[in-house]
Amino acid sequence: MAKTKVAIVKTCEQPDEKEIDAAVRRAVHLIGGLAETIKSGHTVIIKPNLVAVRPPESGATTDPRVCKAIADMVREMGARPIIAESSFVGLDTEEAIQVAGYDKLRDDGYEVLDLKQKGIEKVTIPVPEGRALKEVSVPRIVVEADAIISVPKMKTHDQAGVTLAVKNMKGVLPDAWKRRFHHTYGVFQSTADLLTVIKPSFAVVDGIISMNGLGPAFGEALEMDLIIAGTDAVAVDTVCCAVMGFELEECGCIREAAQMKVGIGDLSDIEVVGEAIAKVHYRFKRTEEAIAEAIPFPQGFNIVVDETACSGCRNQILSTLFDLKEANLLEEAAGWTVACGRMDQLPETPSERLLLVGACLARFKNEAAFVEGCPPNSRDVIRGFGVAQAVGMVDIDALEAEQD
Ligand code: SF4
Repeated sequence: MAKTKVAIVKTCEQPDEKEIDAAVRRAVHLIGGLAETIKSGHTVIIKPNLVAVRPPESGATTDPRVCKAIADMVREMGARPIIAESSFVGLDTEEAIQVAGYDKLRDDGYEVLDLKQKGIEKVTIPVPEGRALKEVSVPRIVVEADAIISVPKMKTHDQAGVTLAVKNMKGVLPDAWKRRFHHTYGVFQSTADLLTVIKPSFAVVDGIISMNGLGPAFGEALEMDLIIAGTDAVAVDTVCCAVMGFELEECGCIREAAQMKVGIGDLSDIEVVGEAIAKVHYRFKRTEEAIAEAIPFPQGFNIVVDETACSGCRNQILSTLFDLKEANLLEEAAGWTVACGRMDQLPETPSERLLLVGACLARFKNEAAFVEGCPPNSRDVIRGFGVAQAVGMVDIDALEAEQD
């Protein structure tokens, strides 16, 4: 049987729109083009990663020029491309759309849809092959699309190792379901389950400016100048993992999808076309390596993240640490433990040195300092340390004055 193809195309340094267009077209051509799947009159969802309110050059969000190139190819097939996204829990997708430059695509006549906006109809669909998930609510426009193209950013992820074409699909869900994936079903298995019913026909990875280290939102931008594409999202992610120096074992969502045989997770069953993996390989920093470098924890400071915690809370805690570091207040956190996620038991630490972050821990709110919200924003987390101000930990007024 013919192996599934994954194309790796290297652009020039700092490619412009024309060069990105050429790279995307070459990658799609190398995997056999769109024509077998996309026909005239089809509706095609193009799903970027706009998880955070950050520009593409930060490495956090998909470059709109990559989506534009794909949308143009879809239009040339006589089909209707719709770029659609729902940013991470609690975040305003419209703001993410604007900061990432997708509003300019709108001005040029492309459809860019905020899947969180009022009026987006959801349908609950069964997940017959799901191991954890038996049903899921998804925007009707995604369910009824003739094809989906996952267009992720090449990034590390603090929980999933990396976030690529497979994990990107979780971003079509309403916030309530994103939360459930984390705290009810387990994000790795439920993301793999989702792929059995919402499966992209193509994956085109924006690896031009990628994110190294503290992904998915706070890592360093890393210029890789790559476009990686295929018809099998799991195979595309498997190749990306090899490029980034990750074992599949480290990448829960892709690993589970491969185990379920939703796609190919074995490099020996994939034909890599274009550049060779070895030629473009770069070992990405794991989140824990990056945290140790970027934020030297003060003595006794500890973060306890339950496996049910989603990006919302984890990122706000990291964001708070960055804010404290910027304000030269990081040392004040010595001896503190910050916890998030739906844990059954609180960490064993003195309650006067424990900060509970997020609604998942609301039932313990009388037992330690608590920050409400799902997720809380980082300023609320800082205010949570403000509770600690009573015991002299953080001068919250000075911190806020510095930030304003
Ligand atoms: S409180 Fe935090 S960890 Fe819990 S569901 Fe909300 S964002 Fe996720």
